[in-house]
Amino acid sequence: MGRKKKNDRLILTVNCGSSSLKFKLFSFPEEQVRAKGLIEHIGEKGSEVRDHHQALELAFQQMFSAGIDRWEIYAVGHRVVHGGEAFIKPTRIDNKVINKIRELFKLAPLHNPANLEGIIACKKLLPNVPQVAVFDTAFHSTIPERAYMYALPFEYYSRYGVRRYGFHGTSHHYVSLRASELLKKPLSRLNLITCHLGNGCSITAVKGGKSVDTSMGFTPLEGLVMGTRSGDLDPALVIFLQRQLSLSPDEVDKVLNKESGLKGLSGVSNDFRDLMQARKKGNERAGLAIEVFKYRLLKYIGAYAVVLGRVDAIVFTGGIGEHVAEVRQFVRRAVKGLFKKQPEILVIPTDEELMIARQVVKVISRRGL
Ligand code: ADP
Repeated sequence: MGRKKKNDRLILTVNCGSSSLKFKLFSFPEEQVRAKGLIEHIGEKGSEVRDHHQALELAFQQMFSAGIDRWEIYAVGHRVVHGGEAFIKPTRIDNKVINKIRELFKLAPLHNPANLEGIIACKKLLPNVPQVAVFDTAFHSTIPERAYMYALPFEYYSRYGVRRYGFHGTSHHYVSLRASELLKKPLSRLNLITCHLGNGCSITAVKGGKSVDTSMGFTPLEGLVMGTRSGDLDPALVIFLQRQLSLSPDEVDKVLNKESGLKGLSGVSNDFRDLMQARKKGNERAGLAIEVFKYRLLKYIGAYAVVLGRVDAIVFTGGIGEHVAEVRQFVRRAVKGLFKKQPEILVIPTDEELMIARQVVKVISRRGL
């Protein structure tokens, strides 16, 4: 962090959750972080921060303390979770784009409304500064039909947009680009399997720089075992939970998204570190949760290896991907001998904010100010 130089362009990235606002300010072309912060408990009972507008004002105060006036900001990049089929690349925000993001509320009712709050607050507080939306789904827009269609009556797709969208796209894209730098080979000539293993987990098959399949689906619930999400399960189980255990749709939603995964299996925690500690002390369910997590991951790696044909590298990112050697070693051992040429196992810390800021610079320089 530090002061702005004369010809620096300051790019602000904003990531709004329903009760949080995360920001990072970069100077370009150096790509240096000038300020960053997190404002939490927005709109919660007893909190001093009423809404995202006030949270952004607080963010500007924090930037001011770091020596940066908000009027120096050149452009803003917003993380928007769901771009549907409408947004397949980073997009300069105007009223039409805002309306479209609003239309997508029904696909991402938990995320897009908060993302839009951030956009509207920024438009008010920085009225003449260009804003760009960077969508978590966009990198996966290259997935072919045969991989994104669910085998449901076709009308669910054509009328309601029911299909695989995939998420964590900015992260999978960023680590793919980094992998290409590290392997010193153009991305267009690489086949990668990228594993984003954080609280949310997803895995993507990347062929020549393009996502061709990914584990998260219509929502982020599908795929790998996650901190509190179940990932894949037999859809008839949902019916069982409703009919036999009389759970309401909201209760099923809560069980699958908030009470399952590592947390539900172990009964200990959603945090991988806690599970490793508990296992050491002899907690069998913590050990079981770790085994289920690793096995599910391996199954997807096997599937994507076949989809890609040749795999140059398996990339690990996110808290678990970067820090838990046991998971990587498990994969390394399991895939030994599976390929003619062993894939590299790479650990690459993700940087979604930097990727968003880079995309902003690209959009702005393409379109001009
Ligand atoms: P988020 O998806 O919320 O950004 P992270 O990418 O930080 O979260 O990942 C959180 C997960 O990573 C947790 O399960 C946590 O236990 C695990 N993790 C983070 N750091 C470490 C570490 N040093 N050793 C083991 N696990 C870690």
